[in-house]
Amino acid sequence: MPEGQVSHRNAIVLTRAIAGSPLTRVHAPEPRLVPQRIDARLTGDVLERMEAQGKHHLFRFRSGRVLHSHLRMGGVWRAYPAATEPPERGLWLVLATDHGVVAQYRGPVIRLLEPGAPLPAIDALGPDLLGDGVDPAAIGRLLMSIEPTREVGDAVMDQRVMSGIGNVYKSETLFLAGIDPWRPVGGLDGDEAGSIGRIAAELLATGVRDRGRIRTWRPPLGAARPGERTWVYGRRGRPCRRCGTPVRSRGQGTSNRTTYWCPACQH
Ligand SMILES: [Zn+2]
Repeated sequence: MPEGQVSHRNAIVLTRAIAGSPLTRVHAPEPRLVPQRIDARLTGDVLERMEAQGKHHLFRFRSGRVLHSHLRMGGVWRAYPAATEPPERGLWLVLATDHGVVAQYRGPVIRLLEPGAPLPAIDALGPDLLGDGVDPAAIGRLLMSIEPTREVGDAVMDQRVMSGIGNVYKSETLFLAGIDPWRPVGGLDGDEAGSIGRIAAELLATGVRDRGRIRTWRPPLGAARPGERTWVYGRRGRPCRRCGTPVRSRGQGTSNRTTYWCPACQH
């Protein structure tokens, strides 16, 4: 599941790979993309920058066109050296310049928008946790402003509250904030809601520095066990790292995404 830190890592890597030079080759083998004639519309255009907003990717071209990609659960972008022929399996789109090649796999959302066209899905998004000047208190207020009976662990996944947080960061953020994911958001106070925004933003920023890998917990020196990277996520039935109580997990929210939590540390 791509989370916000992957998008921001992509913004750096993909911009570096192909920005500033004309696209010499645009290849869109995925049949669902054919009606958009992306190759004819984009060849020769120049990428100015790629921006990530939550899980959305926006490639802004000199012509004013915007290529909008959303990775949902399984999509991925890759960057390659110049003149590489990316593997065809699952390939949706290739953008190549004389300096580098980027390729998109498994879609599932790619739209090429004409200059000035609205980006309705993006305009409805809450503040990006990795955006400039993100204000955790403002995120906290947004969190408290949505339906008061919604559970915290469901509400933080709402992209209208904050974009970029996925299922792993959901559980990890609420553990570090000490907040029970099953409480209604209407019961949070301002400090609690603000701490959720602040911790989520810190975890995502660390993920970007870690090149997109999610690591929220580090073992004490000498006790390293490979693959252990989280406080509670994926640790059902195992002892809480703080108090030893078995970690619990259960599906939550309308999409039934699994939430992990410590019933003793989170209130
Ligand atoms: Zn605990």
